[in-house]
Amino acid sequence: RKKLYPEGEITHMSSSELMEERKSERVTDEKQKDERIFCHRCYNLLHYNRVTSDTWQESLTTDKSILSFLKKKEDATIVTVVDIFDFPGSLLENLDSLIGTDKQNILVANKMDLLPNDVNETRIKRWLYEKCKKFGFTNIRDIFLISAKKNWKVQELAQTMSTIRSGFDDIYLIGKTNVGKSELINSFLRCMVVDGWRHKVTSSPIPGTTMGMLGLPLTLFKETFGVNPKGFHFPQTSRHLFDTPGIINENQLINLLTEEELKITIPQKYIKPLTFALTPGKTVFLEGLGRIDYVEGQKPIRITVFSRLKPHLTSIRRADEICQSMAVGDQTFLQPPIFSSKRKEFPAMIKGLKKYAMKGISGTMSIKDIVFSGVGWVSVGGMFDKAVIDVWSPNGMGIYIRDKPL
Ligand code: GDP
Repeated sequence: RKKLYPEGEITHMSSSELMEERKSERVTDEKQKDERIFCHRCYNLLHYNRVTSDTWQESLTTDKSILSFLKKKEDATIVTVVDIFDFPGSLLENLDSLIGTDKQNILVANKMDLLPNDVNETRIKRWLYEKCKKFGFTNIRDIFLISAKKNWKVQELAQTMSTIRSGFDDIYLIGKTNVGKSELINSFLRCMVVDGWRHKVTSSPIPGTTMGMLGLPLTLFKETFGVNPKGFHFPQTSRHLFDTPGIINENQLINLLTEEELKITIPQKYIKPLTFALTPGKTVFLEGLGRIDYVEGQKPIRITVFSRLKPHLTSIRRADEICQSMAVGDQTFLQPPIFSSKRKEFPAMIKGLKKYAMKGISGTMSIKDIVFSGVGWVSVGGMFDKAVIDVWSPNGMGIYIRDKPL
């Protein structure tokens, strides 16, 4: 460990930055020559794809074991982060039983900047609570809709964390990978840090990293955490805000993508929804990552696409031909996947959901959301009696139906 924590600057990266580093040849070829000093978590993720290599700490790294660790821990306040753009795919299931219901837990829905800005926040919070209940998570003290990237509501979140945590609790950020936990830590630092620590996450040796998690002493956040509600200063040098290793979201479609493909898939800014009609016998593709066939029905259905990927309309017959081409590694106009000499194979598109029947309602409200995890979603609605659809994705992965749309 000493080798990893000499005096000086420590580099801490977000999961996506680490992913990019791992793909670059620098990691394998220049491992020995790399002069950067990484925090424990980053070093191990980068070179060994594990969170830490130390004996007892190893148990913390095996994915969900972080949750059993927290279940036993009494002095912990939890902040559960989800990605609003990938919900419920980014939610940890059965959290009540995994970490217990004896702790304060704040639910944070991140990446709100991707949604249209006229969304009704009260309705979304209610919607999130209902969905979480369905997935075994009811111990929610408060819900925050934030954008870590844009620092929206981050200050308010920190204030609530400070109010509800008892003076001797550490704070743990938990969530699946890619929900934006590192970005949230950065946002806390951008918004709240005093004493010249502004804008720095790659910074001096930070106690707490030995747990395989980035731990920022709460004393850093003096204005927010330094004083308890009664006005006394706590001796908080040993209390931390921990960014825990993200739990891998195996079902997420973006796991399949190369760096180049991620660049054209991951939404960076507000998504403008696209609405059109789909008639029976037709297909809509979300590039090569999603496909919905309207297999049975009388009337057109109304489709609204929330994704950075472009929708393409065609007939089911033509869609089958396109999928056959993709399955043998032929480049099509649908990208991603981008086939190249390096990458000839990609999981074939198959039906993850077959003959899914929807009953229509009159009016203009959407009745179902079909989510392609990490890529976006498609709302289906319109004035029809019954519509039957098939939903496809690579390997049939990452498809969720939301009964009551966002
Ligand atoms: P982690 O795995 O939970 O630590 O996630 P990261 O912090 O690495 O973020 C994953 C991806 O989501 C990165 O591409 C971030 O740029 C992006 N991201 C994080 N927060 C936000 C946000 O508030 N809005 C948007 N649009 N993207 C975000």
